[in-house]
Amino acid sequence: MLSVADAFELVGQQVRPLAETRVSLGEALGLTLAESVTSNQDSPPFDKSMLDGYAIDVGDGSTQRRIIERVIAGGIPEKSVEPGTTILVMTGAPIPRGANAVVKHEETQLLDETTVQFPDQPGKVGAGIFRQGSSFQKGQVVLQAGKRVRSIELALLAEVGSASVAVVPRPRVAVLATGNEIVECDQPPAAGQIRNSNGPMLVAAVTEVGGTAQYLGIARDDPEALRSAIARGLESDVLLITGGVSAGVMDLVPGVLQELGVVQVFHKIRMKPGKPLWFGVRDSAGRRTLVFGLPGNPVSTLVTFQLFVKPVIEALAGAGFQSPATELGKLLAPAKHRGDRPTYHPCHIVRDRQGQALVEPLAWGGSSDLAALARANGLVLLGPGEYELSHGAEVEVMALYCG
Ligand code: AMP
Ligand code: MG
Repeated sequence: MLSVADAFELVGQQVRPLAETRVSLGEALGLTLAESVTSNQDSPPFDKSMLDGYAIDVGDGSTQRRIIERVIAGGIPEKSVEPGTTILVMTGAPIPRGANAVVKHEETQLLDETTVQFPDQPGKVGAGIFRQGSSFQKGQVVLQAGKRVRSIELALLAEVGSASVAVVPRPRVAVLATGNEIVECDQPPAAGQIRNSNGPMLVAAVTEVGGTAQYLGIARDDPEALRSAIARGLESDVLLITGGVSAGVMDLVPGVLQELGVVQVFHKIRMKPGKPLWFGVRDSAGRRTLVFGLPGNPVSTLVTFQLFVKPVIEALAGAGFQSPATELGKLLAPAKHRGDRPTYHPCHIVRDRQGQALVEPLAWGGSSDLAALARANGLVLLGPGEYELSHGAEVEVMALYCG
């Protein structure tokens, strides 16, 4: 059976970033820039005042100056500052010709309507002035292709007038739950039925990592129902199916996928939970759909989502294909393990003063114990074998839902 690392590599070989598209600035949040953005003007575009004060020539030898003009932000000075004169400028106003500093309003004293007393040392040349082009200059690249757009990048794009921008779009991810026993959470489960937790979880998880989720509902374990639902899902960039991929008589998903032209890359990996994971690809009319058959048990679904699907969605969105970060931590309590597969065990991570992870494995009833996972903020990786780790032993952990 395939190792997690080998499976991860096989998935990575199938992932290419989506083709770029242009979106308006307001839609760019969270997306990756597909072009480098160059400014078509200096920033600031003119020498501007950084405060409300008096524009002066610091070397004119005066301590009293006559106010010859007042300029607000958005205004343009008409006069030049001459020796013995000053122009009152507001924050953001252009610096008048002849001035080389702005003295803070609070540091001066108005002697009469047009005469201002300045301190003996009115400041240095350049004080209070944000020089044209000192932030960036016309023709300069202000954002590199590959940068993810957060609010700060949006502001910069707005400053340089990029009302629309080329980005890698959000991957479209279809989510299909399967199983005769599964009902939606607003329906009363009859005997033998359980509520669909995977559907809402995956729709939310897709949204959390920047995809656009399309929920396809629950398909019964019936080839015809699966065929029509899966065919719809194949119109997306990624199709996530939960359940129906193990070895039971009703596990019909792999067969239907292959019937619909999805080429299997692997089925089953050496891990717990998550062993039944199925992965395949379909190329049709120039579009590629990556298909995951996720195990039906909710903890398996979430763990395989974190390990495989999240990196895929991020890579399609232009971020590069990166395995989930792990780190070394120290056990806060002894841990016993028995099993032939590497295990991702729910744990609670706290940090010591140096930021090192201190790890408490949580009581866990296995792959359908969703409540244990809800108490966790990480997974501790326990290698195969039968052994006991003592308090303080070093373990590899993966943080979940942290920032
Ligand atoms: P399967 O992989 O279809 O054999 O399902 C494995 C286990 O996961 C079974 O106990 C299912 O009832 C459960 N399961 C499957 N789909 C879901 C779902 N959407 N929500 C919650 N549990 C599910
Ligand atoms: Mg099933």
